[in-house]
Amino acid sequence: MSVLIVGGGLSGLSAAWELERLGVDYRLIEVKPRLGGNIHTHRERGFVMDGGAFLLEKYSDWQFLAALGIPDALEKAGRYRDGELVYFREGTQTLVDALTAKLHGTVMLRMAVSSIGAIQGGYGVCLENGVLLEAAGVIIAAPARYAERMLRTLLPDAAQYFADYQYDPVVRVSLGYRREDVPVPPERPDGGLFRFVEGYTFPSRVPDGYVLVRAGVRLDRDAQVNTSEAALARVRALLPDAIPVVEWAAYWAEDHPLTRGLPEHQAMMAEIEGALPSGLVLVGSDYRAKRLNDQIEQGQAAARAVQEATS
Ligand SMILES: Cc1cc2nc3c(=O)[nH]c(=O)nc-3n(C[C@H](O)[C@H](O)[C@H](O)COP(=O)(O)OP(=O)(O)OC[C@H]3O[C@@H](n4cnc5c(N)ncnc54)[C@H](O)[C@@H]3O)c2cc1C
Repeated sequence: MSVLIVGGGLSGLSAAWELERLGVDYRLIEVKPRLGGNIHTHRERGFVMDGGAFLLEKYSDWQFLAALGIPDALEKAGRYRDGELVYFREGTQTLVDALTAKLHGTVMLRMAVSSIGAIQGGYGVCLENGVLLEAAGVIIAAPARYAERMLRTLLPDAAQYFADYQYDPVVRVSLGYRREDVPVPPERPDGGLFRFVEGYTFPSRVPDGYVLVRAGVRLDRDAQVNTSEAALARVRALLPDAIPVVEWAAYWAEDHPLTRGLPEHQAMMAEIEGALPSGLVLVGSDYRAKRLNDQIEQGQAAARAVQEATS
């Protein structure tokens, strides 16, 4: 029986990469039609637009870049605390693509895991289409709000905790303009809505003569801005005389895992992890990891833990 990974974001992909290196048979199941989870780069007309993770805190050597064959993919954006702020020149998707290229196991897209139960010698994993897969071990690398359903039978208390997990959804808007239409980087108009104007700050990600305005629009709780189109319109309205040459919006229902920041969360996670049956691991940004390199390391550690438990 192989190991089953639920979720093809950075954590799940890193777990798969490690299983690959360990020579363990695995199957990765991802509900969306693409891999990468919260990392999604859209490239159009020479613009590189990151809808999700973009500016990354870096405090150590990221040796995984060389191991993935992309040692020179980063650009420096400045200092941050006692480390650096960096970004991927061609978009954070570079990391996802490099990880994906390392995988030779079975990857199933557009397929959701709905529940997980214990069976003789491992786990029975039920897919949304009713198919039951058997696995020696399972790595849940999906957000807490979906892990809730998967764990309802095996660990009802953990499921209850995850059912109440809170997020702060956001629409990440990217608008490309001719440079002469946005002559001066706006100084945080509209209460700080303009986060970056690339082209002034990150020239490698826009064509010559253009700028890219990027903003994160939190969805108003009074529902004035409740769709990607409404978020685009709100940012477009800040430059009423300029016509964008490209525009893209990415909606993230699970942005900003608020529950992870609660003082009691770490203790709660320790309790849940202690109660997980052997061969079942939870990994991902909702549970422990904060920075991208943590996610890679914790995904790899999850793979090693499952291998140890199942061999
Ligand atoms: C808008 C935004 C901006 C960000 N900016 C930064 C940043 O600048 N710096 C930084 O370090 N981090 C940033 N992050 C956080 C970072 O992107 C995440 O921490 C990281 O990508 C999470 O990876 P993950 O694999 O743990 O989870 P995810 O990326 O959420 O992946 C989980 C995967 O599981 C899949 N899934 C869910 N349910 C099921 C199911 N039932 N069956 C199968 N698959 C399922 C999902 O489709 C998804 O692909 C940002 C996140 C967002 C949303």
